[in-house]
Amino acid sequence: MQEVIIHDKTFRVLIEADKIQQRVKEIGTQINSEYKGKCVLFLGVMNGAFLFAADLFKSIDLECEISFIRVSSYSGTESTGAMKNVLGLNSNIEGRDVIIIEDIVDTGDTMKYLMHELNSKNPASLKLATMVFKPAALKHPLKPDYVGFEVPPDFLVGYGLDYDQLGRNLNDIYILKT
Ligand code: 5GP
Ligand code: MG
Repeated sequence: MQEVIIHDKTFRVLIEADKIQQRVKEIGTQINSEYKGKCVLFLGVMNGAFLFAADLFKSIDLECEISFIRVSSYSGTESTGAMKNVLGLNSNIEGRDVIIIEDIVDTGDTMKYLMHELNSKNPASLKLATMVFKPAALKHPLKPDYVGFEVPPDFLVGYGLDYDQLGRNLNDIYILKT
C-alpha cells in the first residue's frame, strides 16, 4: 500500500517495513556489542513504542529485562503550563543499565522530562533508543543514543504510531500527505 486514508487524512509511505526490520536488527546488534556482559533493563514507552520495543527486544542476545511505562501529560490549572508524570515504573532502576525505547522524539519535551526523572533514581547508565527522530522539531539539547531513522517534522503513522488511535497496525511508516 503506497497510500492510506485514516479518518479524514491521506498518508503516503515513508519507510517500508523491510527497511524498518533491517534497521531494528542493526540497532540490536550495536546494543549487543556495547552492553556485552551486562544485564540491560529496557523501558518501553507505551503506547507508540510497543512494536519497536518488541522487535528490538527479539534482536537482543544479552541477559535482559523489559518493562513498560507511560508518560502522561495534563495541563496544569496554573499558568506554569503542562505537567507530566511517569506511570508504571515498578522496577528499581538504581545501579541498573537502562535503555529507554521510544517511538518518536519530536520536540523532545517528553524525553527531557523522562530522562530527568529516571536519572534522579541513580541508574548505572541511561540511554535512549528511538525509532524515529525529528531533529528539525527538537527544542532541547537532547541527543538520542540509538536512532532508527531521522525524519522531517511532519506527522507520521504506522508501526505503532497512531492518528487518533488508528493506524498502529500498519507495518510501514507513513507520512501525512500535503
Ligand atoms: P515530544 O515530547 O518529543 O514533542 O513528542 C513525543 C510524543 O509525541 C511521541 O512519543 C509521540 O507519542 C507523539 N508524537 C510526536 N510526533 C508524532 C507523529 O508524527 N506521529 C504520532 N503518531 N505521534 C507523534
Ligand atoms: Mg511516545
